[in-house]
Amino acid sequence: MMNNGAMTPAQKLSEKLPSRLKRLADLAYNYWWSWTIERVSLFQNIDPEEWQHCGHNPVAMLETASYERLTQLAEDPFYIKQISALAAEFDQYMAQQDTWVSRVAPQSQHSLIAYFCAEFGIHESLPVYSGGLGILAGDHLKSASDLGVPLIGVGLLYRQGYFRQRLNNSGWQEENYVDNQFQQMPLELIKDQGEPVTIELEIRQRIVKVQIWRVQVGRVNLYLLDTNRQDNDPIDRWLTGHLYGGNQDTRIAQEVVLGIGGVRALQALGINPAVYHLNEGHAAFCTLEIARLEIERTKKSFYDVEAAVRSSCVFTTHTPVPAGHDVFSPDLMDSYFAHYWSQMGLSREQFLALGARRLGDPWEPFGMTVLALRMCRAANGVSELHGVVSRKMWTILYPDRAEDKVPIGYITNGVHAPTWTAPLMADLYTQYLGADWKNRAAEPAMWAAVEQIPDEELWWRHRVLKERLIAHTRFKIKKAKEQRGEDSDRIAAIQTLLDPDVLTIGFARRFSPYKRGDLILRDAERALKIFGNAERPLQIVFAGKAHPADEEGKRIIQRLMEWCQHPILRNRVALIEDYDIYTGQKLVQGVDVWLNNPRRPLEASGTSGQQKVCFNGGINCSVLDGWWCEGYQTGADGKGSNGWAIGEDAHTSDQNCRIALILNLCINC
Ligand SMILES: *Cc1c(COP(=O)(O)O)cnc(C)c1O
Repeated sequence: MMNNGAMTPAQKLSEKLPSRLKRLADLAYNYWWSWTIERVSLFQNIDPEEWQHCGHNPVAMLETASYERLTQLAEDPFYIKQISALAAEFDQYMAQQDTWVSRVAPQSQHSLIAYFCAEFGIHESLPVYSGGLGILAGDHLKSASDLGVPLIGVGLLYRQGYFRQRLNNSGWQEENYVDNQFQQMPLELIKDQGEPVTIELEIRQRIVKVQIWRVQVGRVNLYLLDTNRQDNDPIDRWLTGHLYGGNQDTRIAQEVVLGIGGVRALQALGINPAVYHLNEGHAAFCTLEIARLEIERTKKSFYDVEAAVRSSCVFTTHTPVPAGHDVFSPDLMDSYFAHYWSQMGLSREQFLALGARRLGDPWEPFGMTVLALRMCRAANGVSELHGVVSRKMWTILYPDRAEDKVPIGYITNGVHAPTWTAPLMADLYTQYLGADWKNRAAEPAMWAAVEQIPDEELWWRHRVLKERLIAHTRFKIKKAKEQRGEDSDRIAAIQTLLDPDVLTIGFARRFSPYKRGDLILRDAERALKIFGNAERPLQIVFAGKAHPADEEGKRIIQRLMEWCQHPILRNRVALIEDYDIYTGQKLVQGVDVWLNNPRRPLEASGTSGQQKVCFNGGINCSVLDGWWCEGYQTGADGKGSNGWAIGEDAHTSDQNCRIALILNLCINC
């Protein structure tokens, strides 16, 4: 169909490589390499310094490596052997017929799922993610690939992604935006007869052309939409400029590109999904376009095709925080959809009713979650508790149902184990649990063999990973201090920051007030006593960004930065700037204890503490919120046997009423 006969970017890159290194191009253009055990050395060995510099981007690494260095590597028998082995493994993986799906659900092998999401966190070299939602989406694609689930991703390719975080001399967050160099990233612009395939959208009374890029994530293709084309109005070229940037107007325009544009893009590529999965409400406009196409095809009314649309759409909601659910004013809807509802054979009132929580109020905003719930056959929250909270939140849409009969279930989030497990630990599991441990991670019996791992073996590996976390932390903080122009004494003091012999806590996530990032240090007197204890000190490493508009989140960061400079605790408290997947990996792999203290029940799931930390032998200390309500196991003695719970158990008989109370308290304060 596409790219007929023309060379792919991977083929072009391979032309430039010495013959014995040609397979590196295929590996560079498929993120599969990023979850292999070899991932650390494969591209890094070409030029460790440049590898840092190019943000671990394998395509940029190969493009910039000198030919001398490449020919030198081509003479290195170990390197050649490593590439051949990995390329063979890759070929086998890509061609694998016997997958989990082929065994467990052969009938669904050919029912393609299109997974729509506003952000995807695949790897630090593809910065089009901001946090948990994106990381989950990235892990979802990788897991689908491993399991053989027929799935594609649909998202947006942001010219500048999410902002890069810098903290200035007063500890205040500054946002920087950097242009992504798409041509030097593992991306392929989809072309037909040498020209980019485009689709058109009518946005703000102008025609906007959208082009489509493909990212390979193992066996899964991720399609990313991009409006940055010369033939678009300069304003429209920025529609896909920033992730979660701009105002309501940008937001709705981006959601039109994602939802409506996404469906058109798949059509243009000749892809016909059996199921559309809306990962969060951002993509909900896709249901309208699916309906419109069906109306066009069958000449039936919206109400006649509605059931068919519903039968092919499913929805995951991700947050109990009301502000996390996009709503648009009727005015804004008018300016984006006035041309559209007539194409669906609907009046304005009928159209706006699709997103209205309450009918009959002309000022009622259009809610993306409401639209998704109306137009999808199934909906779920992301943990058991979040299911309860979501049912409560949305009872208003189901006036004839009791709260517990509201049709929102739950599927607790998960993570892609190979991405987050340190190769050093993965290697240990391969030794003791068998080479297929990753595919059997869900079987409790398989984990029984963990008991056979000698303590010393586990401990030295953990210790190495902790040292690596400390090295990474010092490296990042040194760079930040240099950028801030701090004096040389303070830069030299980095050498004593953190100690591998000290119990180390990790806390990394968005600095949103409900997550209470500075809670552990809020009582200064106690903090000094605990962290500064001469015999049994404690240390903590923080990382995370605050949303650019979140002043309170930024103040939390600022308070933490004050602690980092505190004369007594400055070697015990560290904050790594510009949290990304790489820092995330170093943290979950190196800490002893993972801390999570959100206001319950506002953390829908939380994934960093989940297998990310557990797979590396870290222990959770968390409020009983999100996944931890299910993950925390109470031992026979009534005490936690696999970590610590802060606060009381949410699983008590008056659960619902208590959750309601908490929810109200949180909303009101
Ligand atoms: C896992 C992860 C998140 C999400 O973590 P939560 O525990 O869900 O808040 C955010 N950012 C990065 C880089 C991550 O790796």
